[in-house]
Amino acid sequence: MNYNALTIHELKDLLARGELTPLQITEDVFSRIDAVEEKIGAYITISREQALRQAEEAGRQLDSGKAGVLCGIPLAIKDVICTKGVRTTAGSKILEPFIPPYDAAVIEKLREAGAIIIGKASMDEFAMGSANENCAYGIPKNPWNLDYICGGSSGGSAAAVVADECIASLGSDTGGSIRQPASHCGIVGLKPTYGRVSRFGLLAYASSLDQIGPLAKDVRDCAVMLNVISGYDRRDSTSVKQVVPDYCAALTDGLQGMTLGIAKEYFAEGLDPEVEAAVKYGVEKLKEAGATIREVSLPHTEYGVAAYYIIAPAEASSNLARYDGVKYGMRDMDAGSLIDMYKQTRSQGFGAEVKRRIIMGTYVLSSGYYDAYYKKASQVRTLIVEDYKKAFAQCDALLSPVTPTPAWKIGEKSHDPLSVYLSDVLTIPANLAGIPGLSVPCGISKAGLPIGLQIQAAHFEEEKLLRVGFNLEQRLEMAGCKPAL
Ligand code: GLN
Repeated sequence: MNYNALTIHELKDLLARGELTPLQITEDVFSRIDAVEEKIGAYITISREQALRQAEEAGRQLDSGKAGVLCGIPLAIKDVICTKGVRTTAGSKILEPFIPPYDAAVIEKLREAGAIIIGKASMDEFAMGSANENCAYGIPKNPWNLDYICGGSSGGSAAAVVADECIASLGSDTGGSIRQPASHCGIVGLKPTYGRVSRFGLLAYASSLDQIGPLAKDVRDCAVMLNVISGYDRRDSTSVKQVVPDYCAALTDGLQGMTLGIAKEYFAEGLDPEVEAAVKYGVEKLKEAGATIREVSLPHTEYGVAAYYIIAPAEASSNLARYDGVKYGMRDMDAGSLIDMYKQTRSQGFGAEVKRRIIMGTYVLSSGYYDAYYKKASQVRTLIVEDYKKAFAQCDALLSPVTPTPAWKIGEKSHDPLSVYLSDVLTIPANLAGIPGLSVPCGISKAGLPIGLQIQAAHFEEEKLLRVGFNLEQRLEMAGCKPAL
């Protein structure tokens, strides 16, 4: 039995019945890593010894009857989330030697629940990218076809899950970085409402957009993970004091009485016909399951990408100022003066995409241009919020594709950053508005690459997302559909 191929809920049942131990699961995960990781490159750092120690401890917790919700479950963590004593690079050379002295809030919660942390997953440098081609430690390959991108920026977190190199993982989503790789790798990914999950210990990219969330093999596992990581944290001033419901409870409710919206703007020019067909097939299935389908309009969707690529770089240019060679990570030791040390550390430490964003961000915030760019973009953001408000007055959740196309070949778009930015057109609006979004597999292209369906709902309505997602998964029977590796 390869226990690493099972879901959290399947493993929990077996653990509860005493049919296996956390150590067996963890050893299976490491055998799998030994067999496939060289081909895939899902991890930046693997913490084998710590993981095996945690597995032994989880075994003791189970024996003593004090097991937490994730006791004995091996997870991968995007390398932008601080893990005490384990290197955290954010996919950047500038943080190559950085070992955090503390755990992020989500890591504290996972440890408390008994989870085992296998390692730190590959990502685009500082979460800037849509393909995971901007990582200083190599490009992870899509397990469905090793010539293709696995999506970004949480590409390693998605690849590790679908390749069974962990049971589930955490990613972060600033403009689509959980939903896109989930879609390209054929798994489930959830971006929670802004404020639902603490960002304490998440290395900041664009603070008003960043949110941590789970990637998992099925919708139920996503709900289990969300139960554990959600909740108020006084160390994150944007974290919201709101009761966390049991996200597993509503899964099996049917869709009777639910209205699902289709926005015509999400099926616009540039949408790959295979993606459109797969998503529409999913919509049909949800209709069969009892949902009412209704057309709605989100007229400002087309301005989302432009607004995001002003707001996110603006925030990034400020957030990344802290990497100056003094406080964290690498430092150029040959510089003759303090200013040269700053310059050289940042020139050598940051990759091309990060530099591009810092330059863009600094530019749009500069006094002569602030009104023309940053202020305008913030106004567009408000219009997008208003669009959603109107739409959610008419429906419970919105259905759409996650990305306009399936995964592309590694290198195919590297020369053209703009075309990569455009692939975020369907995921960015949720971040600008702070609403939750879920990606659920809904088909496989003729070339053998997965296609995802996105479900969005109003703030703090993750239960609706999960309920719709679960019904879709049941009807499509795609859970467990895996690449041959
Ligand atoms: N592709 C977007 C960007 O590069 C979103 C990335 C993310 O969600 N972290 O900014």
